[in-house]
Amino acid sequence: MKIHEYQARELFSAAGLPVPDARVARTPAEARAIAAELDVPVVVKAQVLTGGRGKAGGVKLAADPDEAEAAAEKILGLDVRGYIVEKVIVAMASDIATEIYLGAIVDRQSRSVLLMASAEGGVEIEEIAKTNPAAIIRVAADPATGLASHQAREVGFKLGLDWPQVRQFDSIARKLVQTVVDLDASLAEINPLIITPDGELRAIDAKVNIDDSAVFRHPDLAELRNPEEETGPEREARENGISYVNLDGNIGCMVNGAGLAMSLLDVIQLNGGEPANFLDVGGGANADQVRTAMEIILDDPAVELVLVNIFGGITRCDDVAKGVVAATQELSRTVPLVVRLVGTNEVEGLQILEEAGIAAHRDMVDAVRVAVAGVTA
Ligand code: GDP
Ligand code: MN
Repeated sequence: MKIHEYQARELFSAAGLPVPDARVARTPAEARAIAAELDVPVVVKAQVLTGGRGKAGGVKLAADPDEAEAAAEKILGLDVRGYIVEKVIVAMASDIATEIYLGAIVDRQSRSVLLMASAEGGVEIEEIAKTNPAAIIRVAADPATGLASHQAREVGFKLGLDWPQVRQFDSIARKLVQTVVDLDASLAEINPLIITPDGELRAIDAKVNIDDSAVFRHPDLAELRNPEEETGPEREARENGISYVNLDGNIGCMVNGAGLAMSLLDVIQLNGGEPANFLDVGGGANADQVRTAMEIILDDPAVELVLVNIFGGITRCDDVAKGVVAATQELSRTVPLVVRLVGTNEVEGLQILEEAGIAAHRDMVDAVRVAVAGVTA
């Protein structure tokens, strides 16, 4: 789950990270009023669920309320990497001597929370990793004990900081790692972490991604969810316990089990086809869920055909067949169906399909070949 910078800033502030004051504005007049209240030079920043706002014209410094209003006027409504700006923050501006990259992620390989730092701040980490991987300093924090002070300090010195700065960096780095642990975040990032000409370290940007599978443990964080993060079908899938990822192809896929769904995508591509989605209806899917899944798949106009691939275990083939038949009869959009159905209650399931005039395969590769032949290449 992605959240806005202003939301991440609040989490950072609560964790004791040094974040300059900021408030949200939805109109240029509100931006002017906030700038007047703060009574200092400000920076007006687009609040969208993507980075690279600076380059897209979504970050502007303003010396006074007039300029803040004008900046907000320019930024509101702007398209930043496909997101239309509806909100900005007006934040106290900082003078910058140095920009540092600092991020903490859950790293499967080291089974730790990995702290990453680079003196090439401001630049996105993916970019640094590509152009100058040696510039990224990494240290693994034990998730049980957090980042140790000596680890943080070592990173600080490698960044070229002096003693007073290292002391600040130590506190910031440990709090950032702890934020990942406490919030079940997959990432917490300060880019840039700046050093002011007076030697103060400040977090002037904030990014937090929450692990979707852990949101249930944090009701307060669940409230931060932004509707614009998901498309309609993605939201419907999540609310119905269906895993759905939209892809570029034209063969809609309905599968039970993530592993089987992944292998279906592979087999489709091996046979020259392109899947339109990944979809796992979940173990023990019932007729209703199958119908909902069909609705979600057909919402994608690129889908020319739906390939159902069910290996019934806990999921019963007759339930799936009922859902498939209900979907074909009730949904307004119809496309050709190719069904592969084996497992628990398959005889009953195949009979229900046959009565509805839907042919079914027992072999997955057979079904895939028929599906690939049935769509435009
Ligand atoms: P992003 O481009 O979406 O990552 O947005 P950032 O918040 O990181 O801002 C982009 C860049 O704008 C930063 O790297 C800074 O160079 C600049 N910037 C942001 N806030 C300030 C500020 O308070 N003062 C100054 N001088 N520059 C800022
Ligand atoms: Mn940034």
